[in-house]
Amino acid sequence: MQNWSTYIKWNPKEIIQPGSEDEIIRLVQKAIENKRKIRIIGTGHSFEPLWVNEDILVNLDKHSGIIEIDQDKQTVRVAAGTKLSTLGDLLFDQLLAQENLGDIDQQSIAGSISTGTHGTGTAFGNLSTQVIALKFVNGKGELIECALDNQFELFNAARLSLGSFGIITELTIKCVPAYRLELEKKKEDLYEVLNKLDQYNNENRNFEYYWLPYTDTTQTKYSNITEKPADKSNLGTWLNDILLENHILRLVAETAKVFPGLNKGVSKLSAALVGGNKKVHQSHKVYATPRYVKFNEMEYNIPQETFRQVVLDIKSCIDKNSFPIHFPIENRFVKEDDIYLSPAFGRPSAYIACHVYKGKPFKEYFAALEEIFVANGGRPHWGKMHTRDATYFAKVYPEFDRFIKIRNEQDPDRIFMSPYLQKILC
Ligand SMILES: Cc1cc2nc3c(=O)[nH]c(=O)nc-3n(C[C@H](O)[C@H](O)[C@H](O)COP(=O)(O)OP(=O)(O)OC[C@H]3O[C@@H](n4cnc5c(N)ncnc54)[C@H](O)[C@@H]3O)c2cc1C
Repeated sequence: MQNWSTYIKWNPKEIIQPGSEDEIIRLVQKAIENKRKIRIIGTGHSFEPLWVNEDILVNLDKHSGIIEIDQDKQTVRVAAGTKLSTLGDLLFDQLLAQENLGDIDQQSIAGSISTGTHGTGTAFGNLSTQVIALKFVNGKGELIECALDNQFELFNAARLSLGSFGIITELTIKCVPAYRLELEKKKEDLYEVLNKLDQYNNENRNFEYYWLPYTDTTQTKYSNITEKPADKSNLGTWLNDILLENHILRLVAETAKVFPGLNKGVSKLSAALVGGNKKVHQSHKVYATPRYVKFNEMEYNIPQETFRQVVLDIKSCIDKNSFPIHFPIENRFVKEDDIYLSPAFGRPSAYIACHVYKGKPFKEYFAALEEIFVANGGRPHWGKMHTRDATYFAKVYPEFDRFIKIRNEQDPDRIFMSPYLQKILC
């Protein structure tokens, strides 16, 4: 097995792909009888070894699709293995949509919510906040149902729980009526963006920007609901999203890998080439961008109020250390929530993500930026690289102990624990 970035490789003893809830219950009960350990994998798009163990690995690719739609309540019951792209298409056919999404759509719905996957937009929480009910098979082999209005504490812990409560079989998601988005990309000066940040966030549904290291250039992205028809031609999107952001980026990244001295120049050249464009499409197709170029990534959530200073500290740190990097740094904004293990727990949040091309060294760069995040109360994205452990998380998550207590009740024999989860949870 290997994860999306291919950085993590491991050999589970057995890989099982159950196709129904009954099969999932039976497999957990059998594993309990035989004193075996289980981890669960969605599509392996995480960058931390959340699924690594040496025993049973469960994947729900065969347990996929919509189970039931309630048009009056605008909710959908969905099988846990469903990919976000599939869900987006199925919902659109029913004139519904998810209110917000991240920047790719290849993950499974259960995997996405289990790490607190997020998009951007100060009016929206991460994807786990869209979940209103859950079913999972716990470490005692029981099928548990919980919801916003049924066993709230258990539900609130389980809806972002890194696969540590058991196997999620089904989720109910609160949807919104289907909508189209107009996405506009612009080239803007970093300091101008920092000055106008509140305005940009207030006046646009979804605002984010990429900053190109060693320059003052950003590419800003604004998405807003539109009544305009979806674009017929895909040429503009192909040129920008596929050719420029994938094929040309890969060529440039390969060259800079062989000649590290070129990295600063590449970043400056990329800044010079940043342009503007617009596209209109169904919401789920606008959020997602194809990512064919592989990288390793670290992303931290920080309180939104510290954002400007953290950005300036990162800029000075990169300039001072001359790290051989050229991938842009991504900046997004997310509403606070009350989910115990959500990085946005209790605070309007900003997320800052840094990427390094696959195969290039990243540890020194990530360590330097992580020091800045940690000094500002940073909470890492659970699915992206970091070096934090349970002692740190107990300090930055006010409800960490409550989460651990509920987890231990659901999995007393630690069927779903692994050495990695042991490090980050207890
Ligand atoms: C190119 C790329 C772009 C990305 N973009 C974003 C982004 O825009 N925003 C963002 O926040 N993140 C982003 N991510 C991170 C990604 O969304 C998360 O890592 C997400 O968890 C991956 O989903 P997955 O289905 O691959 O889950 P996996 O990585 O396979 O698993 C994640 C966790 O979910 C658990 N899990 C999976 N299925 C189940 C189940 N049925 N029951 C219980 N537990 C389960 C696993 O055990 C694990 O702990 C990106 C990653 C990549 C590689």
